[in-house]
Amino acid sequence: MSSFSRRKFLKISAATVTVAAGAAACAKGPATPAKPPRRTAKGVQRIPTYCDICFWKCGAIASVRDGALWKVEGNPEDPLSRGRLCPRGTGGVGAHYDPDRLKRPLIRTHDRGRDEWKEVSWDEAFAYIANKMHAIKATYGPESVAMFAHGIGGNFLKHTLKAYGTPNFAAPSFAQCRGPRDVGFRLTFGEDVGSPERTDIKNARCLVLIGSHLGENMHNSQVQEFAEAVGSGATIIVADPRFSVAASKAKHYLPIKPGTDLALLLAWMHVIVTEGLYDKEYVAAHGFGFDQFAERLATCTPEWAYPETGIEPETIRATAREMARHKPSTLVHPGRHAAWYGDDTQRSRAIALLNALLGSWGRKGGFYTPVSMDVPGYPYPAYPKPAKPMVDNPGKRYPFAHEAISTGIREATITGNPYPIKGWFVYATNLIQALPNEPETIKAIQNLDLLVVVDVIPSEIAGWADVVLPESVYLERFDDLNVEWFREPFVALRQPVVDAPHDQKPNWWMAKKLAETLGLGHYYPWKDIEEYLDHRMTAAGLSLAELRTRGIIRGAPQPIFADEGAPVVFGTPSGKIEFYSLQLEKAGFDPVPMYTRPTDPPPGSFRLLFGRSPVHSFSRTQTNRVLSDMMDENEVWINADMARRMDLKSGDYVCLKNQDQVVSNRIRVKATERIRPDCVYMVHGFGHTARGLRHAYQKGASDSQLVTRYVTDPLMGGTGMNVNFVTIEPEVTRG
Ligand code: SF4
Repeated sequence: MSSFSRRKFLKISAATVTVAAGAAACAKGPATPAKPPRRTAKGVQRIPTYCDICFWKCGAIASVRDGALWKVEGNPEDPLSRGRLCPRGTGGVGAHYDPDRLKRPLIRTHDRGRDEWKEVSWDEAFAYIANKMHAIKATYGPESVAMFAHGIGGNFLKHTLKAYGTPNFAAPSFAQCRGPRDVGFRLTFGEDVGSPERTDIKNARCLVLIGSHLGENMHNSQVQEFAEAVGSGATIIVADPRFSVAASKAKHYLPIKPGTDLALLLAWMHVIVTEGLYDKEYVAAHGFGFDQFAERLATCTPEWAYPETGIEPETIRATAREMARHKPSTLVHPGRHAAWYGDDTQRSRAIALLNALLGSWGRKGGFYTPVSMDVPGYPYPAYPKPAKPMVDNPGKRYPFAHEAISTGIREATITGNPYPIKGWFVYATNLIQALPNEPETIKAIQNLDLLVVVDVIPSEIAGWADVVLPESVYLERFDDLNVEWFREPFVALRQPVVDAPHDQKPNWWMAKKLAETLGLGHYYPWKDIEEYLDHRMTAAGLSLAELRTRGIIRGAPQPIFADEGAPVVFGTPSGKIEFYSLQLEKAGFDPVPMYTRPTDPPPGSFRLLFGRSPVHSFSRTQTNRVLSDMMDENEVWINADMARRMDLKSGDYVCLKNQDQVVSNRIRVKATERIRPDCVYMVHGFGHTARGLRHAYQKGASDSQLVTRYVTDPLMGGTGMNVNFVTIEPEVTRG
C-alpha cells in the first residue's frame, strides 16, 4: 500500500494543544455568527431549510424536540424534494451529532506528514492565513492562490479570494465528473445539461440509461421521477456491465462490455438513420450537417458493433426501434459521472446526437428548458483584475473546457508552469479521494506554502492542511440563497435550526472575517448574513421573513417545452443542432464521434469500476452514524463464476492490487451473477485512512487509491478513470 494511505490525523497530544487566548487582534467589525433562536422550549418546533448531505439542495423541514435536533423530513412546498428526502437526507441528523466532527480551528505544528496540531482561536487562525497570503501575494502575485470547492457553501470564500485577486477556482465536479457530458451537449445543442439535469424523466415513454444508476446514484427528484416513469409503464432500456437496480426495472438489459458504449451509440444511430426512424421534421428544422453525419455512420452497423460491445445485432436493432417508436418522448439520459475513458466528451456528444435524432431536446418526455427566479446578486464592489490568466489550461490546450480543470491546477502546483501556485483553499471536497492519482495530489501539496481546509469532518485532505477550519453543518448555519434553474422558478433558504455543538462556524462568517483580516473588509458591506439575505430578497421584491417561515417561495410557472412556448434557441456557431461540428473539425477533432477500442484487462485482471450508494455521499458521510448504520463498508462485486474459480464466496475478505502494485485495504466479496466476468465493481468513498474519522477508519477499500492511472480527455481535460485493472489478492491484515 502507498505510504500516503498510512496517514494519521488529529493525534493531538496534551503537549501540542495550546489554545491561543492572546491571538493576533487583527479581526474587526461586527461579524458574529447568527445564532438560531434558542430551541429550549418543550415540545416540537419545525424549521424549514434545505439539505446539504449532497449538492442537490432538497427543501427540508427539521424538527427540534425539547430543544434538541430530532428529525429531518422533506418540505412539501419544495419542487426538488416534493416533501420526500432521500435516505441520506433523512440521515442529516447524524451529521449534527457526529462525534468525529472537527470542533475547533487547528494549526499544524510540524512538517506535513506528521500529525501534530495545536488548537487555536479563530483570530489566530485568520492571522496565520492572512500572513501567508500576504507573503504569497508579495512574492508570486495573488493569482498564486487557488480554491477547490464543492457545493453552494463555497460562495462566500470565493468572494473573498476574488477580492484578494485570484482567478483560480475549480470544482472537481467538472474534470472528474460531469464536465465531459456538459461539453458534449454544449457542442451539440449549445447548452449544458446542467444541475439538476434538465431531464423530463417522469413524462418519458422510453428511458435509456447508459451506465447511469438512477436509484443508486441518489438524486432525489430524478429517482422520484424514475419511479413515476416505471409506474406509468415507460419502456426502460439499460446498458451497463453490471445489473444495477435500474436494470432490474428494464424491459431490455444490455450487459455491455466496459468501454464500448460509443460503439453501441453509433450502431443505434446507424439503425435509426438507415431505417428512416428519426424525427425528420425536427432534424430538418433544427439540424446542421445531417448528411455528413449520416455518411460517417454508414459503416457503424450492428454487426460491426457486436464484437466490440458483446450486444447481439438483433438486440441493437430492437432497442433502436423501440426508442424511435416513442419519440420524441424518448430520453437517452446524459448521466452525471461521465469521466470514464478519456473519450468521454465524444461519447456524451453521441448521446446528445441520439437524442437529437429522436427530437427530444426541448420536448415533453425529453429535455425541458429550465427556468429560474430573478433574484439579483449583492451589489459588491468590483474585483481587482487579475494580472495573469487562469492557471489550469495554459494555451487552451483543452480548447473546449469552459470551467477550470482541477487537475490542471494540481499540475501547475507541481511544475510551477505557467506560473507557481503556492496556496490552496479546499472547501468541502476531499481532494485525496476526489482527484485521481493520490501521489500526484500529495506531491502538489508538498509544493505549497499554505493549505487551508474548511470542512465538517477530519477528512484525508484535512490531514495534509496547514490550517483546518471547522465548519458548522448545514443544520446550524445560514448559506446563500438557492435560486435554482429547474422546472419552475423558486428560491430556497438554508437557515440554522440548532446551535453548533463546539466552536464550529458558518462559511459566510469565516469568509467575512478572513476578508477583514486581509484588509478587504469593504468587500463585505453587510453586517451579517441576515442583512445580506434581506438585501437580495428585497431587491427581488420578496420577503425574507416569509422565506424564513416557509423555506421556499415559488414563482409563477413558465413554459418549459417548445410546444408550450419555451424558446427554441441553440447557442452553437451555426445556431442549430450540430450533427456535424465544424468547430471540432477546425480544432483537429472528429466532427462526428468515432469509436476507439479500449485496452482489454491483462489475463487474470479485471477492469475496476466504481459507483455510488443511495445512503452515502462521496467520501463525506461514512462517519455519520445514521448512514453508516445502513452501510458501514463497501463490497467488491465479482462475477459468481469467476469467484468460484478463485474459490471465493460472498463475505470473504480480499485485497485488490492494481497495475501499479498499489494494494487496497481489505474488502468483502459479493459474488454475483449481476456483473460481467471482465470487471469488478465497488462503491466509492470507503477505506478511509484518516484516523480522526474513527468510525470509518479502514472500513472497506478505497477505489481512489487504486485509480493511479487516468486518461485525459483532449477536448476538455476531463480525467477518464475507468482505465485501471486489478487482481484479486488474499486479505492482508493492517495495523
Ligand atoms: S438528494 Fe438526498 S442528500 Fe441530496 S440534497 Fe436531496 S435529500 Fe439531501
